[in-house]
Amino acid sequence: MLFPWQQNDWRRLNGERERLPNAWLFIGPAGTGKLEFALHLAQSLLCEAPAADHEPCGQCEACRWFLHGTHPDFRRLSPLTDDDEEGKEGAKTTRKLPLIKIEAVREVIDFAHLTAHRAGRRVIVVEPAENLNPAAANALLKILEEPPADVLFLLVAQAAQRLLPTIRSRCRQFPLSAPSHDEALAWLAGQGVADAATELAWHGGAPLFDHDPALSALRRQFAEGLARPGFASVLSLAEMVDKQKLPLAVPLSWLMKWLHDLAGLSLTGLVRYHPDKRQALQELAARADNTALMQCMDSLYRLSPYGQHTLNTRLQLEALLMDYLKIFAASARQG
Ligand SMILES: [Zn+2]
Repeated sequence: MLFPWQQNDWRRLNGERERLPNAWLFIGPAGTGKLEFALHLAQSLLCEAPAADHEPCGQCEACRWFLHGTHPDFRRLSPLTDDDEEGKEGAKTTRKLPLIKIEAVREVIDFAHLTAHRAGRRVIVVEPAENLNPAAANALLKILEEPPADVLFLLVAQAAQRLLPTIRSRCRQFPLSAPSHDEALAWLAGQGVADAATELAWHGGAPLFDHDPALSALRRQFAEGLARPGFASVLSLAEMVDKQKLPLAVPLSWLMKWLHDLAGLSLTGLVRYHPDKRQALQELAARADNTALMQCMDSLYRLSPYGQHTLNTRLQLEALLMDYLKIFAASARQG
């Protein structure tokens, strides 16, 4: 499926089909539909009756297989999630960047060297390509250097600079468009997302996120508490998070964006994530001690590797929120 803001990209891509590359590299910001675009292209490359504009028909056997995730000439290379690693020692104690491992790349390389089941083309989507570990990246590079006939790699990356330059240079790069603010807002409203503008801002302007109204309500309650810093209110925030059994990573991300806006207001006058709380943030920024603000951010960064911990969430968060209160301590004493 394509998103409304990708129509121009699709036309531009169709202009490049005369001469198919061995690999395309799609680049764009998080949460804007890069993977969906690559999958749509993969389906259209495998479709047995594509339309004149290369739209996959959605009806043929290849499309049906593709949509069921069972097309024999298609593979998707993605990292193992933390859940896949459950049971491995240490997997739950630190939050590791999920990486694409060499075993997975080897499996795909074997697949690329097979004879295709259908019309002769095989398609492999690699996403996120920047999460290839070094051995996996080198293995992928080898096959990109000597690509088997009729195999197309579609790499998807947010941070292309984190790819090996040698991989980048083997791919035809294709920057994907992000939606404008209005396009993103219209799309979210069409999905029935309440408070679309607030949600969009909180997600940094990228419209594709898991929308969880209950979690959003808690997040807003958390921000309300941060807007009125006091001993009792921060303790109740820690209690609230604890009661919901949220992993520490969740309130950490809430506080991180709040501090980002607080610091941003002092430095540039901009509020990125909480435009609905601009007034409250402005009042806080006027009272904030910047050294204490940096120290609070520091404490937050130090905790972030333990974001998936569910042990002592409350204690950790209480300690962090005490650091948050210190940002306003001097003005409280004066006033
Ligand atoms: Zn089809």
